[in-house]
Amino acid sequence: MPTPRFHVHQAQWRLPVPCLPMACVVAVCLLALTACSGTPMLESRHGYQVDHRYQSTAQSSRVRHLVLHYTDSNARRSLHTLTGPHVSSHYLVTHDSTPTVYQLVDESRRAWHAGASAWGSRANLNDTSIGIEIVNRGPRDMPHGRTWTPYPAQQIDTLIAVARDIIARHDIDPVDVVGHADVAPQRKIDPGPRFPWYRLYRAGIGAWPDTDRVAAYQAYFTQHPPSLAQFQRALAAYGYPVRITGTFDSLTHDTLRAFQMHFRPIRHEGFPDTQSTAILWALLEKYRPEALKNIRK
Ligand SMILES: [Zn+2]
Repeated sequence: MPTPRFHVHQAQWRLPVPCLPMACVVAVCLLALTACSGTPMLESRHGYQVDHRYQSTAQSSRVRHLVLHYTDSNARRSLHTLTGPHVSSHYLVTHDSTPTVYQLVDESRRAWHAGASAWGSRANLNDTSIGIEIVNRGPRDMPHGRTWTPYPAQQIDTLIAVARDIIARHDIDPVDVVGHADVAPQRKIDPGPRFPWYRLYRAGIGAWPDTDRVAAYQAYFTQHPPSLAQFQRALAAYGYPVRITGTFDSLTHDTLRAFQMHFRPIRHEGFPDTQSTAILWALLEKYRPEALKNIRK
């Protein structure tokens, strides 16, 4: 399927740029010592000038994570909330037949989307992440049980294009492409079990275990199940903010529910089972092989 092009709507006003003849452009560039690539070499600020002629090569992006959310609301309300004083995200992807991608916060700035959160050795992921909100109504509790709103194909095609672009520019590790529930499992359940993580993986976004390794680990763990402490160590080694208590506490339950919604969405009650264990070990083997050594203690 061809990668869709997307247009970003930036929530800021831009002044119209007057069209200059080429001779004038050259003259202006020379006078202002401008690179003519958009960045002036000498920039006048209030009370001082900044010289942009040299750039360090020893630098990298501050962004380490991509956090995906659903809005639990329609597009109009989502836009209203995300441009208000309390919460925000870098991007908002609507669910129209031709989805709109709103950019609400510049990627160099901190958006307020993750709240109290942790992943791996990092906490407060607002500091180190790009947040994408996806318009989706989330769960509805019906008399016959909970139902989840599907994500339209066009919306996911557009999300894939946006996410690929972000991941490439900031060099984000597959394990660090996460859902809000992954990084805040006791507070959040978005983007929910209908979110097509496997489809994103096939498009080069995020992590997924290899089927044959899951089968091999499942055969092994049927005979040799790990202890609960080992299971908690494995979740923590992958990145989940779980504590190693050796008891099945509410944090372990909620964390496992988040893990299952991500990697085994058909059953996500949050209780340990052989298949979930096999998926977790296959993920560690593929993406965090050094961590496997410390789990079987
Ligand atoms: Zn969220």
